[in-house]
Amino acid sequence: MKKLIAANWKMNKTMEGASSFIGEFRKLAKGSDAEIAICPPFTILAEMKKLVAGSGIMLGAQNMHFEASGAYTGEISPLMLKEIGCEYVILGHSERREFFGEKDEQIHKKIISALNNGLKPILCVGETLEQRQTQKTEDVLENQLINCLKDIKDAKNITIAYEPVWAISRGNANVKSATKADAEESHLFIRKVLEGIFGEEAARNTRILYGGSMKPGNAKELLSMPNIDGGLVGNASLDAKSFAEIIMSAK
Ligand code: PEP
Repeated sequence: MKKLIAANWKMNKTMEGASSFIGEFRKLAKGSDAEIAICPPFTILAEMKKLVAGSGIMLGAQNMHFEASGAYTGEISPLMLKEIGCEYVILGHSERREFFGEKDEQIHKKIISALNNGLKPILCVGETLEQRQTQKTEDVLENQLINCLKDIKDAKNITIAYEPVWAISRGNANVKSATKADAEESHLFIRKVLEGIFGEEAARNTRILYGGSMKPGNAKELLSMPNIDGGLVGNASLDAKSFAEIIMSAK
């Protein structure tokens, strides 16, 4: 299975910054073995589609509403994302859970809707520091996976991102990522839960990305672990050079 490295630009970059990023990144990431997706803000998706044309770089959104259309002021629908050329959509990111009150029930509806509309959801799961310190990591991961993936029969277009909340940089480059051993332990656990939901073969073929302060200095070792199938990269994906270095370390 090819590794998938996805950039989560969060609420960063306008058209000018995106254009210079892509110009530089396309040269630096040539010949990479990984699949690459970039999830920019909604406002530059259309421009990004033109900038990545012919490069193989895929686009994703960072969120969506579960309805196809309707009276939901300020929201973006899966149809709109599909029309603009998105392949992926990040759902259930911990920042959406924490700052916008998203709950598993809503994330579940979004996943079903994304799949029904031909988008590939990247479902984020992960424990807080307090949950980790009180030995609740596995319970949290299992509950999030079961709640968000219930009633779904086919795992084919689903990607999971394990994002321990305590390892997410939020722009602070000094935050430490999970160690490769801790990350691998959670990825293996996630795979076991997926096995219970979808069966052994589907679980084996589902990509589980690691997210949380992945950067050029730690990407290679994290990505070498048997159950880490790629990365979801925030802060280090904002710079073309550092994102390209991460991409080039994915074999
Ligand atoms: C994220 O929030 O999805 C993320 C991975 O952020 P960072 O790489 O900045 O920790």
